[in-house]
Amino acid sequence: MPNSFPYKRPLVIGAGISGVGLVKLILRLGAEATLADVKKESAIRSETVLPESPRVEYRFGDAFPETLDGHDLLALSPGVPLNHPLVKLAREGNVEVTGELELAVRYADKPYAAVTGSNGKTTCAALAAHILKASGFKPFLGGNIGFGLAELLSSLPAGEGGGCDCLVLEVSSFQLETVERFHAKGAALLNLTPDHLDRHGSMAEYSRMKERIFLNQTEEDVSVLNLDDPALAGTRPGGRLFGFSRRKDPGKSGARLIKRDGRDFIEFHEGGGIVSEEECLGLSFSGPANMENLMAAAGLAHSLGVPLKGIVAKARGFKADRHRLELVGRVNGVEYYDDSKATNTGAVEAALGNFPPRSVYLVMGGRDKDLDFSVLAAAVKRKVKRLLLIGEAAPKIESQLRGSAPAERLGSLEEAVRRAGDLAKAGDAVLLSPACASYDMFKNYKERGEAFQREVLRLKEGSPDDPRETRC
Ligand code: ADP
Repeated sequence: MPNSFPYKRPLVIGAGISGVGLVKLILRLGAEATLADVKKESAIRSETVLPESPRVEYRFGDAFPETLDGHDLLALSPGVPLNHPLVKLAREGNVEVTGELELAVRYADKPYAAVTGSNGKTTCAALAAHILKASGFKPFLGGNIGFGLAELLSSLPAGEGGGCDCLVLEVSSFQLETVERFHAKGAALLNLTPDHLDRHGSMAEYSRMKERIFLNQTEEDVSVLNLDDPALAGTRPGGRLFGFSRRKDPGKSGARLIKRDGRDFIEFHEGGGIVSEEECLGLSFSGPANMENLMAAAGLAHSLGVPLKGIVAKARGFKADRHRLELVGRVNGVEYYDDSKATNTGAVEAALGNFPPRSVYLVMGGRDKDLDFSVLAAAVKRKVKRLLLIGEAAPKIESQLRGSAPAERLGSLEEAVRRAGDLAKAGDAVLLSPACASYDMFKNYKERGEAFQREVLRLKEGSPDDPRETRC
């Protein structure tokens, strides 16, 4: 690790994966730390293994600190907003405020590529890592998924490269709030649709945060940008632009999806000319959103040294994570899809893009994130036979999508699945794509997806060996 650590005792807020990882990194760098969380110690210890060291003090529950006394840095986990009272105190007392990702990247001595956007981050980051691996690199995949970067850096064996030669980071808008020296070799901004407005306040602010993925980039670096998303039209890439599009010529450098005889091809441009055209044959995923993820992942892998020629074949064997438009099974000719990870309107719109007109029983609802569901009106009108609404947001969705499709409210997710099962006919699809967070009824989106899948299996009455795959 190149830099020495200039702080004696940071205060880290948030005892989740990121905060605990950061404490481990601080310990490794030789300093002391305080880790604070408003949650009770028992709740934290039931989910997390805390490092045991005389150099860490834990301040949980009622012991949560009210001042920064004795601390020379305030480090926030991504879940902690910048309007936290301790941030104000820190600024008044000239104590530096930073975040887990920012602090960690200062100690990363390997090149890194990073991806952000409203939807597709996990899939694109995992795909880029898959392509890198298939090309002989040893990438670490993390950030906002799996391991945090600080955790990784805290555990690398000294002087051996730690078993990886580059990093692929999934980065959220929350993490980007506090970046300053973050400097990605390749950075991708996939799309921008309304999300997290409860935290960011406005689309303008949310968009400003996402654009920070390109911070500090120069002509030596690559900025991967979706050329089709009107919300990104004013985005200023920091490095050399690698545009990707489902329609347009990407210009000097980038990728374009082409359909020929119903088959997908990707055309790669570099130095102003076409360098290769590759058929997406043999991939275990398809569909418009995943083709965008593939083009962006190719741009990121290329920024770290993978040649564009032959890059699509390197994506073979990649499977998206669970609960992302995952085909759970078929019952009486009806397909059931678990897209529990679709927690905003952009993801629902992308999911509906994969189905034929008027064929979908769409299960939506949960905890609203201050979203405007009426943006889905056109897509719902085209694709949805009936809306089955659950959770806190059901009344709002019903009123904002009135006239787009018949709608009814159900008392639980399980009831919604059973009702959809009663109504759907062979050739239809039942899609859980909630456009909402899950916290009103479930611990997280995974638990919601599992509940959906269990109910589908119940409908199937003991045929457990149905295919599990993604549609796109
Ligand atoms: P994130 O990490 O940004 O939440 P995921 O890869 O976990 O992204 O996917 C979240 C949701 O977005 C899923 O419902 C998935 O089907 C959908 N999705 C994946 N890629 C895209 C894309 N490029 N554009 C829109 N939606 C997408």
